[in-house]
This record gives sequence, structure tokens and C-alpha cells, in this order.
Amino acid sequence: MTAKDYGSYSFWLENSGDDLTPRPALDGSTEVDVAILGAGFTGLWTAYCLLRRDPSLSVLVVEREIAGFGASGRNGGWCVADFPVSPSVMVKRYGRDAARAVSLAMIDSVDDIGRVVQEEGIDAHYAHGGALVIARAAYDLPKIEEMWEEYRSIGMEDRVALFDTDQTAERMRVANAVGSFLMREGAAIQPARLARGLARAVERRGGRIVEQTTVTDYAGGSPPRLITDRGEVRARQAIVLAGEAHLSRLPKLRRHVIPMTSHIVITEPLPPEIWAQIGWEHRDVAVGFGSTAGYLNHTADGRIAFGAYRSRYPFGSRISDDLDCMEDVFTHARHAARVWFPMLQQVDFTHAWGGVFGVPRDRMPTMGFNPRTGVALAFGYSGEGVATANLSGRMLTDLLTGIDSDLTRLPMATHQPVPWEPEPVRSVGVNLVRRSRYKEIEQVERTGVYPEKPSLAAHVFNR
Ligand SMILES: Cc1cc2nc3c(=O)[nH]c(=O)nc-3n(C[C@H](O)[C@H](O)[C@H](O)COP(=O)(O)OP(=O)(O)OC[C@H]3O[C@@H](n4cnc5c(N)ncnc54)[C@H](O)[C@@H]3O)c2cc1C
Repeated sequence: MTAKDYGSYSFWLENSGDDLTPRPALDGSTEVDVAILGAGFTGLWTAYCLLRRDPSLSVLVVEREIAGFGASGRNGGWCVADFPVSPSVMVKRYGRDAARAVSLAMIDSVDDIGRVVQEEGIDAHYAHGGALVIARAAYDLPKIEEMWEEYRSIGMEDRVALFDTDQTAERMRVANAVGSFLMREGAAIQPARLARGLARAVERRGGRIVEQTTVTDYAGGSPPRLITDRGEVRARQAIVLAGEAHLSRLPKLRRHVIPMTSHIVITEPLPPEIWAQIGWEHRDVAVGFGSTAGYLNHTADGRIAFGAYRSRYPFGSRISDDLDCMEDVFTHARHAARVWFPMLQQVDFTHAWGGVFGVPRDRMPTMGFNPRTGVALAFGYSGEGVATANLSGRMLTDLLTGIDSDLTRLPMATHQPVPWEPEPVRSVGVNLVRRSRYKEIEQVERTGVYPEKPSLAAHVFNR
């Protein structure tokens, strides 16, 4: 079998500045303190934080492809303190104090990522500008006011701001923008550089990463074990399952999480005269509403990456490379980017790619450890995992090393995953919700009014 061209999986991986030749595979059965499935942000942050806490630990990360192959090497580079479950839903489910504690922990994650890239010399193009949610129609203004109110209700109004039309234009000039909501704690990153740099930092601190090795099963008990196609890894303390959407491929976790696709297009580097028209000096990450909504990143080399909110669910949760290329979604994303910035009409889009993120049934991430079985699980970020995976790494480190902390009291530590329905009910349900979401968006754009009570779909599948 010829080696895969890993650089072709995203613009970010192609430009990661790292040699993507796979590391050696596992060479027969072995024993370590902690064995981790997956070298994405979750697995790597867990390994990094464990070694930062206790350099004497032996930590092994087992990766099917290469570090950063999954969503971590392909995402929009949105490193934002926004938790996958909104503050108002968190308040309803867990109370105000828990909602506030989670938000504060997410802010710490954005800061921790900034600190680590500096300390470890990882050139991840981290730019702490903030995250802007842009209203591009008057009927979107109540939406951003609602967001501000959500943060005010948990005592965090100093971390957010509302901008009027002129203030928004001072940050970035987007066609028809009438206002915006700023979350101050947000950074743009080059995600593959972060994943690859983090993998090297784990190794510098004594961790080991094996690639081209598939975990086919796992077992809790004493000792807990990762069973792979290259041998068995026994763990004296814990195994950590950090495969996000791909966990659905393990028979025991098939119904814990489903994969959803997301796709991104990116422009060529824009000339100074176009940047003079757009502004966007702080390199805030940006997002918007409606049928041309997107998640945007102003890259360090002067491009615009535009991620489309056009996610799809593959029947049976089947993940394959075919999902990465969806021409209709790429065409839509290029069109939407030009709606945001009409001056991009003659600009070329040089790359387009996709990947899968994991969605739990109740959208609540799990970051837990069962000391009885020795199995830790961290997954379910619903497409908002860049900063959240760092929180997983910090939380699991406290849980695995037996530290009782503010983090170990967060609701994700005790959250029990809700199983997805079996097929075909699952795919019928997901597609119904998805389609009704698009219908709702069309209706809002036609009538200029949001439904009084948001549909269930509005809470699910934003991407
Ligand atoms: C296109 C796209 C855009 C996104 N944009 C953003 C964004 O801008 N901001 C944001 O916050 N989030 C975003 N997300 C989500 C975010 O990227 C993910 O939530 C996050 O990267 C998850 O990290 P992870 O380590 O948990 O999973 P992954 O990065 O998916 O890593 C899992 C790793 O485990 C390996 N693996 C899986 N199964 C096995 C096995 N059985 N044996 C061995 N190895 C295995 C995989 O190969 C993979 O490398 C986006 C996702 C996508 C797909």
C-alpha cells in the first residue's frame, strides 16, 4: 500500500511546516501508565497536561493515521471560549454557578493554549483578537442581543460586547453588517500547526506517539487495555478514549456519538488593496447567521478561510475519505464568501477540504474517568472542540491524578452519554432536523421574522 498524501487533507496540514511522514507503528504489546487513543487535540492535550503535571509518567498515544489527521488538523481555526452548550441551556440544566464555572474554564483554555504555544515555541499563528458574531440583517440584531444577555445572566458581561454598525465596520467591513457581538476570549489559529507542534511537545516531555496503529477495541479492568492491530497496550493507571467522531467506529461506543461533516474553502493571499477595503486588522474569528452563514478565519498569510454551515450525516455513521469532498458545499461556500465580501469576485479559492466532527445525542460533551474500570472518555464537542479539547485535557489530568479541583466538579465529569437511536431511525431523525433548520432559515430570510419559539432544529446542528 502506498503512503497517504497527508498534506492533501487540508490547507493547514499542507502548510503545517512539519514532516508528515508517519511515526513508527506500535511494535508489539507493551505496558505504560496511561494509554491514549487518538492524536488529535483531545489526546494530545491530555498527554501534554499529564506530563506537565508529572514528568515521570509513561504516556503512550496510539494514532490510526498521523497526529492531526482528524478534525484537529482540518478545522476553522476558531479557538474560542464558547462552550458547545449555550450558557442559557447550561443554566437550565445545571444551574447558574455551573454555567459560569464552565464559561470561566473555557476562557482559561483559550489562555492556556496561548501560553503553551509561546512556552513550547509552537508557531501556530495564534492571534488573540476575539470572536465576532455578525448580524447581516436587522432581524438578526435580537439574536446578538440575546447572546449578550446570556453572558450577562451569568455575570460575564465584561467578557463580551455589543457593537453597532460603525463599530462593527471598524473591526471588519462585511456587506450589509448592522451590528455584532464580540466574545473577547477568542483566537485565530493555524490548527494543524498547533496539533503537530503539540505532538512534538508531548515527545519532548517524554511521551511516546505511535502512528499507523488502529485501536480495534478496549477493555476496562485491571489493567485497562487498548487492543490494537499491532498488539495490546496495558495501562497501569488509565486508558483515555479521545477519538471524537471516530469513536462511533468502536462497537462499544457506536451510539455515543455521530459524525457530521463540515467543509471549508480558502482564498489565495489577498492583495493589500482588498485588505484595505475589508479591514479586519485584529484577525478576530467571525461567524454569522442565515443561508450564507459561515465561520471565518483571517489567516496569518492574508487569506480568508470560509467554513460553510452545510453539515451532513453519513448513514450508519460511516466515515470515509469520500465525505471530505462535496463539490456542492464547496460551491456554496465560495458563493457565500463572496456575499460577505463582494470584492472577492475575481479572487481565486486555492483549496477546499472537509472532515467530520462528533455530535452527542444531547450535545453535552463528556470528560469523565471511571476509576473502577480505568477508562476515561472525552468527546462530543459538536464542532466546537478547539478550545474545548484543551479543557478535556486539563480536566482528565486532574481526574486521572486524583486531584479534586474546580475542574473535576464541572458537569462534564459526571455527564452520562445519551445513546443515539439505532439506524435507520437515527438518519431519518437527523436529516429531518437538518432540513427543518434550513427551512426555518429560508423562512426567516423571506419574512424577516424569527419564529417566536425556536425549533428544536435551531438548537442542534449549527454547522
Ligand atoms: C471542517 C471542520 C471545521 C471545524 N471548525 C472548528 C472551529 O473552527 N473551531 C472549533 O472549536 N472546532 C471546530 N471543529 C471541531 C474541532 O476540530 C474538533 O472538535 C476537535 O478538533 C476534536 O479534537 P479531537 O482530538 O477530539 O478529535 P480529532 O481531531 O478528530 O482526533 C481524533 C484522532 O483519533 C484518531 N483515531 C480515531 N479512531 C482511532 C482508532 N480506533 N485507533 C487509533 N486512532 C484513532 C483519528 O485518526 C484522529 O487523529 C471543526 C471540525 C471540522 C471537521
